[in-house]
Amino acid sequence: MFSRLTLRTKLTTLVLVVVTIGCYSVGKFMADGILEVIQRLFGLRAETAAVALVSRADVDWLKLSSVREMQEDASSQRFVERTTAMVHDKYIDRVEVVRYLDGNRAQHLVSEGGVRPFAYPTIGEITEMGSQDIYKMTTNGHIGVQIYDAEYMAGWAIIYDGTDPLGMVLVLIDTSETQEIFDRTQLIIMIAMGIIIVLSGLVAYRFASSFEKTAVTDGLMQLYNHRYFKQRLEQEVARAARHKHPLTLVMLDIDHFKKINDTWGHATGDIVLRLLGRWVKDQSRKTDVVARYGGEEVALILTDTALAGGQLFAERLREFVANETVRDPDENAEFKITISVGCAQWERGMSFLDLIRAADTALYHSKSGGRNRVSVYHEDLLPRPEKQELAKGKRG
Ligand code: GH3
Ligand code: MG
Ligand code: MG
Repeated sequence: MFSRLTLRTKLTTLVLVVVTIGCYSVGKFMADGILEVIQRLFGLRAETAAVALVSRADVDWLKLSSVREMQEDASSQRFVERTTAMVHDKYIDRVEVVRYLDGNRAQHLVSEGGVRPFAYPTIGEITEMGSQDIYKMTTNGHIGVQIYDAEYMAGWAIIYDGTDPLGMVLVLIDTSETQEIFDRTQLIIMIAMGIIIVLSGLVAYRFASSFEKTAVTDGLMQLYNHRYFKQRLEQEVARAARHKHPLTLVMLDIDHFKKINDTWGHATGDIVLRLLGRWVKDQSRKTDVVARYGGEEVALILTDTALAGGQLFAERLREFVANETVRDPDENAEFKITISVGCAQWERGMSFLDLIRAADTALYHSKSGGRNRVSVYHEDLLPRPEKQELAKGKRG
């Protein structure tokens, strides 16, 4: 299908495809931007939750627990209970509590993932403060938020007694859920983009082909137009010459068409032309090139067809048209039309213009012979000077 399009259409399609790809790239870039914003929004939500929670824990902790209580509670049970009670936000997935002991020692409690309220099955002793990055950072301030690893986001607070750090609460938020939403959104956007590309490609192709079709089609008869016919005949003549295939040109003209216009009006005349276009198209082969040559003249390029075959076709067409009836209910018109036909076969040495002249000569012969008939071109039909011209062309 694509190979039948002209170079201009192919180029138009190419340009449209490039534009489409450009739009796609910009779209993808924008989608990535949108996704990043979404991700940041999700991230911010988690971060905010962590900060809020940790700062709340800080305040509550200072309010509820005195330093003394903390120091007296050797089991750290109250510490754990209180932090657990405070940490219940739905975004919090894990809580770690560190209670600083003396010197470089601390107690480390890690909650069980996904269990709420938080339980602390792991109680470990940190003997070397600052050996883990996350704890090192706690010395920088009261409250902080950081990306703990790819999946967790952490917020922490250090609990002070005056200037002495007593302990630390660390909350972790699982961001893999956010990642899942991100992945899903990205997939949906990519699918949507894919659909948009396919659709715009189709639209581009349809646009290009319809653009080409309008450029070569006669709007009234829905046949090829004169310009296309000439181009195509030139090509077909060259092809016939190269492959030594026969080629016949048929030209026809409605008889006394002026009278139809005069009797029924131009609109009825147009109906006749539309009908004739359909009839000729229906009667011809798919490989035939059917064009509106002029006002009420039609030309047919019969590829791979010798004169005898062309003549047979022309006769059948003439008869078909003569038997059909034209109706125009608006004018209450019902009448028959006839056509005169001329056929000529391409002979070596003939240009495509020679071939048109030959078929036209045969058509003229049909008209002068009484109309509603088919004539075949032969040199005797030409007036003397033209005969010599054509003979010269053949020799050359
Ligand atoms: P002949 O048998 O010798 O061909 O007689 P004719 O009346 O058909 O003669 P001619 O070919 O000179 O007339 C063609 C007429 O076709 C003249 C013009 O008004 C009419 N015509 C040309 N194009 C159109 C068109 O698009 N619509 C209509 N309705 N008429 C057209
Ligand atoms: Mg006519
Ligand atoms: Mg005419």
